Formats: sequence, structure tokens, C-alpha cells
Amino acid sequence: MPDAVRRVAVALPRPLPTPFDYRIDATAAGSPLRGCRLRVPLGSGEIIGIAVDEAQQGPNDEAPSLKSVLERIDATPILHGELWSSLAWLARYLHAPIGEVLATALPASLRQGGSLPETQAHGWRLNEAGHTALPGLRAGAPRRFAELLAHGVHDEDSLDARHPGWRAHARSLAKRGLAERVAVDAMVASPIVPPPPLNDEQRAAADTISSAESFSVMLLDGVTGSGKTEVYLDAIARTLARGKQALVLVPEIGLTPQMLERFRNRLGVPIHALHSGLAEGERARTWTAALRGQARVIVGTRSAAFVPLPEAGLVIVDEEHDGSYKQFDGIRYHARDFAIVRAKTLGVPIVLGSATPSLESLHNAHAGRYTHLRLRHRAGNARPPQVRVIDVRKRPLQAGLGPEAVSAIESTLAAGGQVLVFRNRRGYAPVLLCHDCGWSAQCRRCDSPMTVHGTVHGAGRRLICHHCGAQQPAPAACPQCASLALQPQGNGTERIEEFLSQRFADVPVLRIDRGSTQARDGLQKHLDDLGTRPGILIGTQMLAKGHDLPNLTLVVVVGIDEGLFSADFRSGEKLAQLLVQVAGRAGRADKAGAVLLQTHHPDHPLLQTLVTQGYHAFADGELAEREAAGFPPHASMALLRAEAKHVDPVMHFLHAAKKGVADVAIEVHGPLAAPMPRRAGYQRMQLILSSPLRAALQSVLDGWVPSLYALPEARRVRWSLDVDPTDLY
Ligand code: ADP
Ligand code: ZN
Ligand code: ZN
Repeated sequence: MPDAVRRVAVALPRPLPTPFDYRIDATAAGSPLRGCRLRVPLGSGEIIGIAVDEAQQGPNDEAPSLKSVLERIDATPILHGELWSSLAWLARYLHAPIGEVLATALPASLRQGGSLPETQAHGWRLNEAGHTALPGLRAGAPRRFAELLAHGVHDEDSLDARHPGWRAHARSLAKRGLAERVAVDAMVASPIVPPPPLNDEQRAAADTISSAESFSVMLLDGVTGSGKTEVYLDAIARTLARGKQALVLVPEIGLTPQMLERFRNRLGVPIHALHSGLAEGERARTWTAALRGQARVIVGTRSAAFVPLPEAGLVIVDEEHDGSYKQFDGIRYHARDFAIVRAKTLGVPIVLGSATPSLESLHNAHAGRYTHLRLRHRAGNARPPQVRVIDVRKRPLQAGLGPEAVSAIESTLAAGGQVLVFRNRRGYAPVLLCHDCGWSAQCRRCDSPMTVHGTVHGAGRRLICHHCGAQQPAPAACPQCASLALQPQGNGTERIEEFLSQRFADVPVLRIDRGSTQARDGLQKHLDDLGTRPGILIGTQMLAKGHDLPNLTLVVVVGIDEGLFSADFRSGEKLAQLLVQVAGRAGRADKAGAVLLQTHHPDHPLLQTLVTQGYHAFADGELAEREAAGFPPHASMALLRAEAKHVDPVMHFLHAAKKGVADVAIEVHGPLAAPMPRRAGYQRMQLILSSPLRAALQSVLDGWVPSLYALPEARRVRWSLDVDPTDLY
């Protein structure tokens, strides 16, 4: 009998509509293959794929042209069960290549074929020699560390959280034979800081969450500072007590050391964090610890929606409206929506929390699909901030700040408070203009002006394109007319910082944005240094959430007017959410807070509704408008984007694609230029498909998307499909 050879379908991390078949010999195929990583040949190289179809038996000569699997990496599947089903669903729903979806679920080192890391938790303790030597150690940080260990084993996770820099001390003690690293049980509980007694609204919400035994979606809709996090913590503690895992998704800017520490102290178990700032090895370790059920509480940003949860009990999505949950390239998933699918497949409750719920979630709550839990009051003694709209028309402005704002800052500082000036624009100024001839600095590769960075005139000043990253020194003279009258126009955070640090020279002025704060922990350090002293923070939306600043009593918001007139149908929703979230930073503790919104359009309906009636009144009005206009959430959308160096192939592709949509139930708009028609040297256009019925749109996409791969016009462009796009560019 010839050697039995089997055929296996392998999903490759490439934009291919279907998996590829390979042959695998029977011994390697031995046990179930689906969900195992395989190293296979592709073209002249090799690639790691994932087996998707159980092998079928067949004689050797049945598939002579098939290439052979080079190596089976996993003896048992690493993607299986619920996660496997949810990922298969995601690939179908997004009409995305299954191989790319499966690869997205894996941390990079596993995607590249690395072995599953060791996940045993370790701790440190003082050994006998250490105890003997302790009284004789020199005073200082290493001795303090030794004293800490003398009280018992400390796990590395809590040492990382509480004693930054501990590793150097541990190493030096170990070298002298005084301390040792030991394996610890990851589930060992450490002391717990008792929670504040929940108020009635919190109690009711927490009880509803904990009484849900199977899948249901709960919208925890609570004003800023209403104590949503306390409700999560209560629900997670009860989940842990039932022996289950909890997954908490937080926005990129919400995952702070301060927040992890709060979770750790309250829950008494290690908190497994997962975010883009982690080293690759660390990400793989956390993912694997979740797979093995060792990680009981996983807190992470967008990509944490993909952790395996073999013993799931609860899923939480904090700030569910946040834009960072949507992935903008590759597999364009929405982490909140995928988390809901996972909770459904897992049969566990999911909580979506926000002070400014997305219109999607409010719509579902109104329709009765989600349980609507409301927290209407701030927790503890904090009162809602007073919001005032400041009309700056005809007023003299300095770095964009009117006299009312400057005097409010002055009196707040004099009263010992802290001030946040919010401006969602990095850099010194958005435009560099020649006052003599009208020339302005444009990015050569994008349809966008370049942002001026650097407060010093001359050498230090640079021009940076925020869309493609292009950089160059700012010219000393106008390239068109040689005039020296080059003027930065408008105000970014750097210019506001320059003005305020001169005007208020005797208090600290901290600028917090992506330019000033590279490291995740850098921000916390800045804030720790400031403490509760009077001072000014200037920030972009990095400061809109996450850090509790008890002494912050004034928030000044500048430069929001451009958001009032954007063409994107979601811009009003985004602006309203941002304003409410930023305003919510003020007066979170005992001191009352005030918010000043500077605008040239004080009568704009969005501002009026928001300030006089609040976010929910705004949202109701907006939902009614979306319904009238046939926009999400009252319709389902998909966006086909295409780009190339020249516009012609893009047009040809989108026209050919449009011809392929036969269904009359679907509206097709375009080809249209993208809102930014040229970016990083590429011409960009799009086609928008929409239907009042999600299912109708999905069934059209089912037939249409595979046909796009086959279009000859597709070869000359880069194209992508975005189902449920959140940005139309
Ligand atoms: P949110 O997540 O809704 O913004 P937090 O849970 O962070 O609110 O709570 C806001 C502040 O109120 C925190 O300082 C928190 O410690 C405090 N807090 C929350 N719940 C209570 C409570 N029941 N009693 C007293 N203080 C509370
Ligand atoms: Zn000029
Ligand atoms: Zn550019």
C-alpha cells in the first residue's frame, strides 16, 4: 500500500480569497489539525499558515501538484472552540480573508511561528541567608526591597506595578545569594483594598449585571465620574468568585498604570494587561496565559478582543463609543462589536459602559435589544461641572485664548486649583503662510498643509505632515517670493504652551500630547510630579480620559469650531462625545468644576442642545436625523476604498466593481474622491454601499467581494473593504 497522504486546507496571512491546499503525510496529520499552525512553502519562500479544514485521506497520486507541508508547529490547536467560531464569523461578516483574520488574532511572535511561551508566574523571596544578612545591609533602596521580601513572596506582576526598578535590586540580592526566584500560583490572592459602599444606582446596576447568567448586552450609561468603574469592579469580583475569567476592553488612552493599579488593589489577583506598548514576548505570554486559563482578569486595548477565554464569565467594554476600538487598516474590525459576538458565542453577559454612548448602542437600547442601566449622578461628593459657552467673536485672542478664559485661568490658579486647556491639535500651528504672496506650506504627497512644530524661529522649527509623517526644516524665507514674512497661522498645543508659560510663569505648565509624551508611563510621571499643586495642563484628547486629577477645577476648550462643520455624518457625534468627556475631567472630587467652551458659533444647535439639555437630548435629535437621512444606525454601510499612484486605474476599478452590484435593494454611491483625495502620494477614491437592512447588504457582499479579486482592474490598485466604516476616509 502506498503511504497515505492527506490534503489539508491552510489559511495564509495574505489577501487571498480562499485557503490553499497542501499535502501532509499521515504521521504528521495524526491528531486534529484544524487550528494548528503549519509551516508551508509559498512561491519561492515559506510562510506560517493555520490549518482550517480537516485533512481528507487519499492516495498519493491524487494530488500530484500539491506542495507538502514543511512542519507542523502545534501538536494541539491554539485556535479552537468559541474563538475559532467567532473568528470564522468575523471573516464572513467583514468579507475578509480567513487567513488574515486568524493571523490578526495571534500575537506577532506566534503568528511568525514561535513556540507558546512559558506562562508560569514567578515571585521573589528572601532565602535563609537573606534573612540572616538583612539587619546588616546598608540603608538604601536595595535594603528596602529586601525588607519587602522578608515579609513573604512577592509576585513579579505586583512588583512591576508597585516597585518600578525592582529588578535591579532583585538581581543584586540574588547575586549575593540572599534572594531567589520561585514559581508561584498565579491565582494566589493578595490583600484587597475594600471598595466604597456602592450608591443605590451603582448597586442596582451591579446586581443586574451579576444576575445575568447567559448572554445579554447591558449598556451602562453613566455620567462622567458616576462610578462606572466601581460597578465593573463589583461585577468582576463576583465573576472571579464564581471561578470565571473576565475580559475588560479599554480605549488606547484609558489604559493607564493608575487604572491597572486600581484593579489590582481591588481584585487581589494579577491583572494581565495587553496593549500596543508591550514587548512582543510579553503580549504572547499574556495571550497564552489566557489560553491556559491562568490569566483571570485581562485588561487590554483593541487587540485584546482576540484573547482566548476558555473559562469566560464576563466581558466589559469601557468607553464603548471610543474611536480607538475600530481598526483602520488590515482587518478592519470593531473591537466592541466583535466582543459582543464573542460574548454571544460564549454565552456570557457583556457590559458596554460610557458617559456618551455611541448612537449605535443607544439605538439598540431604545429598541430593547440592550438592557439600559443608568447612573445619573456623580458618585461621592462630586457635582456636575458648570458648562459655559464663551462667544469669542470680535474678542482679542492670544494663542487662541480669549480674555474670559485667561482671567478664569488666573483666578483658578490663585485659588490653588489646576487647569486643563484642551486643544485637539498637536504642534505649534496648523499652517505656515507667507504674508506677502499667500504661499503656504503643503505636503508634497498629501492634499494637506504641513503643521509647524517648534516654538523657536529659525533652526529648530520643522514642518511635519500629520497624515504621512513627512518632515522637513521650516524654510527661512518664502520659496515662492523670498519674503521673510512667513507666519504660523492658527494655534496648536505648542503655541498655547508658549503663551501660557510666559503669562503664568510661576506655575508649572505641562503639555501632554503625542509629541511631548512618547512613553506610556511618561504621562503618569509628569502628572505625579505635578501632584495637586496649582498648574496648567495643555493637552489633546490624550488627556480626555483615564487620569483622575482631583484638583482639576477648570477646563477650557478651544478650537472646536472646525468640528462643527465637517462633512462626515459622524462628526457631530464625535464632537459631542469629546466635549462631554473633556468637560467631565473637571471637578471630579470635592471641589466644584467649571468648563468654558470657546467658539465663534455660540448659537450652533449642537452646542446649544449639548449645554442646555445634555448629551442624551443631543443623541435623540441626531438619531432622528440619521433615520431621516438613511444613515447608520438606521442603515448598514460598506465602503470599498481603492488607491493608486494615478487616478485612472482607481476609477476603472471602482466602475468595474460598481457594475457587479446587481441588487436593487442596495444603494451605491460613487466612485467618489475620498475626503482627502491624495495621501502619501496615492490617489484615493471610494464606493459606498448602503441598505436599510444589514442582512440584505451582507448577502450582496457575499457574492460581490469574491468577484472583486477576479477583476483584471484590481491588479493595478490597492483596494480594501470596510464593513461598518466609522470614518468615510
Ligand atoms: P467613572 O468610571 O464613571 O468615570 P469612577 O468609577 O472612576 O467613575 O468613579 C469616579 C470617582 O468616584 C472615583 O474617584 C471613585 O473612587 C469615586 N467613587 C465611585 N463610586 C463611589 C462610591 N460609591 N462612593 C464614593 N466614591 C465613589
Ligand atoms: Zn511669499
Ligand atoms: Zn503628507
